[in-house]
Amino acid sequence: MSNSRIVAALVLSLTIALGISCGLRAAEPLEAGIAFVEITPPTPFRMSGYFYERLSTGTKDPLYARAIVLHQGNEKAALVFCDLVGVTREISQPARERASHDTGIPVEHIAVTGTHTHTGPLYFSSLHDEFHELAAKAHGTDPYDSAPYRAALTDKVADAIVQANASLAPVELKSGYAQETRLAFNRRFYMKDGSVKFNPPINSPDIIRPAGPIDPQVGVVLLSKPGEKDPLAGIISFAMHLDTTSGTLFSADYVNSLNIRLQKTFGPDFKTLFGTGTCGNINHRDVTKEKQREADEIGQMLGDTVADAIQKGEIKADGDPALAVRSTKVSAELQEYSADEIAKATDKMPHVAAREIGMLEAAQACKITDVERLKKSRFPGELEVQAVRLNHETAIVLLPSEIFVEFGLAIKAASPFKTTLVVELANDDLAYIPTKRAFAEGSYEVTNSRVQPGTGEKLADAAIALLKELQ
Ligand SMILES: [Zn+2]
Repeated sequence: MSNSRIVAALVLSLTIALGISCGLRAAEPLEAGIAFVEITPPTPFRMSGYFYERLSTGTKDPLYARAIVLHQGNEKAALVFCDLVGVTREISQPARERASHDTGIPVEHIAVTGTHTHTGPLYFSSLHDEFHELAAKAHGTDPYDSAPYRAALTDKVADAIVQANASLAPVELKSGYAQETRLAFNRRFYMKDGSVKFNPPINSPDIIRPAGPIDPQVGVVLLSKPGEKDPLAGIISFAMHLDTTSGTLFSADYVNSLNIRLQKTFGPDFKTLFGTGTCGNINHRDVTKEKQREADEIGQMLGDTVADAIQKGEIKADGDPALAVRSTKVSAELQEYSADEIAKATDKMPHVAAREIGMLEAAQACKITDVERLKKSRFPGELEVQAVRLNHETAIVLLPSEIFVEFGLAIKAASPFKTTLVVELANDDLAYIPTKRAFAEGSYEVTNSRVQPGTGEKLADAAIALLKELQ
């Protein structure tokens, strides 16, 4: 045979081999394993979500690391949804590495997300460090030291993945969107004085209109035992801040009531895995109403919406499973502050802790000191984006930090998949990632953002590229 014929023959046999392997792959069953590990801290413990020290007095409902491992052929993925305000790299990285070591799942195929519940523990950030130092000064040691919690959390997240991996069993998939238009509101508003305001006063005559959209789509992925009608678990994603509980009891926020509502329809063993959608600028606060909905009602309403869509057949089986994972890193710069600005912010921190200054000023001081903490300790100058294909109609995107809703909408609009869940706060938490437009407009989320303008646009582009690659 001539060289060109040998090459042609090789190409042909390679094509056949690839064709056969793709054919086999589509026929291979999808397996899933689910495990929940409780991560509620001891009480009393500092709670997250606000700019002052709030100590827990008990537990409304336990907090969990909710893990799912997916397996098909040679491909595996693990997603962990933690009832936490966020998960920092100091937790997610060692947890992913240990889980990878114990299960063989590649680190880049593992995502550890926070749901952003505001009734979870405060265990990182410059504000956490300020409370810790003040307590240590006053008492000799900090009675609420979070170091043991952080170590235990890392282990528990890894344990959840290991346990889920050990319980793999065949599943069938369904996916689609439910529509929820009653619960979520863009919380930034154009005001008559030309400014953009976050959470303006209720019924303020100075409000013109919301400064951005919401995302009414509730992404739903259902897993069932083969041949069974009722699902055993659901990955559900909705873009609305989990800050609807308040008080001093630990709670998973509306995820708990959503789970209770879905268990009413699908049985007490049904498991809800909630991936928070891109809700950096979305919350439950209706500026036309004096009284706001709370977690129990919200979870129930969201659950009604999801259960209705499932029962009406809107969540559908869409072809053979085709599990695949892609991950990439996007370069990201932290904001820059002068020595003078850093010194001023540092001096303000005790006043933030004492609740002596306003919210925007407090957010600014926390942000500048947190940027310095990130620079000193760990920030690698890049952020990770992951995409998981479940079948040729369904994918899940995972992005770090609190992402503005416009990015989730843009990713979904450009996605070649019929159903795309875009989940935020994966693997790291650098607070808000606003759009370039929002950076120009200002207000709270911008004041409390640690990254340079343009970071979110880069993350969205990277996510869209991964989705196209997977399709
Ligand atoms: Zn928040």
